[in-house]
Amino acid sequence: MSFYELQAPTAWAEPPSIWSSTSIDDIEACPRRWQLLRSRWGDFARFPVRPHPAAIEGQIVHEALDRLTRACGQRGNPPFGGPEFAAALKDADFFPGFARAVAEWQKRLTAHPRPGPAFRLRTSAEDLTNRAVRLFRAQYKPNSHVSLHGQASQHAFAAAGDGADGADLNVLLAQRGALSEVKLTHPELPFLGVLDRVQLSGDSIEIVDFKIGKPSEKHRRQLVRYALLWWRATRAAPTRISAQYLHGTESWSVSTSDLLATERALRLELPLLQGMLRERPARAMPSDLCRSCAVRARCDAGWHRAEEAALVDGQGDAELLVASPPQPHGFMASADAGRSIAVVHASSVAPLLPALTVGQRIRVLDGGWQEKRTRLEIKPWTEVYHIASPSPSA
Ligand code: SF4
Repeated sequence: MSFYELQAPTAWAEPPSIWSSTSIDDIEACPRRWQLLRSRWGDFARFPVRPHPAAIEGQIVHEALDRLTRACGQRGNPPFGGPEFAAALKDADFFPGFARAVAEWQKRLTAHPRPGPAFRLRTSAEDLTNRAVRLFRAQYKPNSHVSLHGQASQHAFAAAGDGADGADLNVLLAQRGALSEVKLTHPELPFLGVLDRVQLSGDSIEIVDFKIGKPSEKHRRQLVRYALLWWRATRAAPTRISAQYLHGTESWSVSTSDLLATERALRLELPLLQGMLRERPARAMPSDLCRSCAVRARCDAGWHRAEEAALVDGQGDAELLVASPPQPHGFMASADAGRSIAVVHASSVAPLLPALTVGQRIRVLDGGWQEKRTRLEIKPWTEVYHIASPSPSA
């Protein structure tokens, strides 16, 4: 049975044995999405997400900026052109990273169950590099206190965490003033985090994370969780948390009662989320995320929301009933309330579709509506899923 005919995972993902702040946020947003993405689907160890080339290109640029933001942050945001900035570029593997990411993605796209000759990244690694450099230059605010000659005032960092106990960490922090990439696990809860930086500001301890994008509550929440990890590991409570963006820093004070409240919440949340993920399928939480959810074709609870949202931005998500035998350029189908739809495609696309017979229910993702939604074009990147009636994942 092909991937597009499978109605449910062939092996369901288990809940994580240890949680990160990101996994908690992802699972809270929609347990089903997390579970379906990480489950086995036939030959695929995970759901084979097939993002649009534009989304992949955006992701390559985003990940490169994220690496560079962290590397610059660790060095105190040095000015352009100095040795510290050059070292940050090297640490982030910034320039070579583009060619490698493009090559890796081309390989993944080719291995996807519905490869199409036209479905390849069309933007070169060089163009993506230029795009990332422009974005970085537009946002980056160097720290003028960092010397151009490599005497970075904040470059007293050292990687720490694995193997160091709490007393060691306190001593290291007192000696060095700042530690980077501190990996910590909560002593009682299955929760870990890698703290980008822990630094002393006078007598107080500050936890810093390097971020790209806009400030968000999610960033603040993650930092409080990291402050809790430091407190439990060392018995020294941080008093400040900061998210350092390319264009500036957002800081908040944090108290031990904040840390205790976060710990109480984790104690309650983690078993609840674990229980949700043991259901098969896990609970669906329809939201604005459904529109871009990669597993929406396999989720009845979120499908109609995704279909409606797709209409707003002119994309073609549609649930259809095949009404005529498929021909090299398409077939007739009916949509809700019996509306007749001509489904059209290039002849080169026909061999890429799953087997279709009259009466088969399908969900089409990322087609293109034409002629006032009486014609739906199946493009090279469009996916067509078989739907059993009724679907088992309702
Ligand atoms: S479609 Fe919506 S509800 Fe369904 S799994 Fe995706 S995000 Fe969750």
